[in-house]
Amino acid sequence: MAISIHPAVDNGVKPGSPDFAGGTLVCKCANNPVEVTITTQCAYNHVCGCTKCWKPAGALFSEVSVVPRDKLSVTKNAEKLRVVDANAAIQRHACTECGVHMYGRIENTNHPFYGFDFIHPELSREQGWAPPEFAAFVSSVIESGTPPDQMPSIRARLRELHLEPYDCLSPALMDAIATHAARASGVLRAA
Ligand SMILES: [Zn+2]
Ligand SMILES: [Zn+2]
Repeated sequence: MAISIHPAVDNGVKPGSPDFAGGTLVCKCANNPVEVTITTQCAYNHVCGCTKCWKPAGALFSEVSVVPRDKLSVTKNAEKLRVVDANAAIQRHACTECGVHMYGRIENTNHPFYGFDFIHPELSREQGWAPPEFAAFVSSVIESGTPPDQMPSIRARLRELHLEPYDCLSPALMDAIATHAARASGVLRAA
């Protein structure tokens, strides 16, 4: 049986549309769903194996990407949202009825990714989002109950989908975090 990574990539990663300019994320509630409007293409889309990201039922990984926070607004039923863990670096705003995470926001202005909101593009009906580019926190799927002996076939399947597996973030994002830290400590000059 083929390994299911996430419904958005299991049948092959679809390319995005060059002119795509956003869409509406809708939660899973049958009545009065929460809606979040995004007015830009997403960036750094990837599949993530961490235990904090929201995943659809049966998926090993989430699909998660970022948008600038000023391009995201809650446009319907905002009163249904609650922060899952107020102490987490990323405050995930989830629907209290269906449990779907609508967006994750960083409030700490010193955080390397401050200014970006995390979203799950699969919650939108619009087609054309930039596709997942890599797989992050792959080893963490063990923490959700995946037997460790399945890891070689999971990593092989990710490579087959051209989603290079990393056990943290991608090199570009790890470099961005380290650069931020080096500028904060003064060993690198600010840009
Ligand atoms: Zn909901
Ligand atoms: Zn994650």
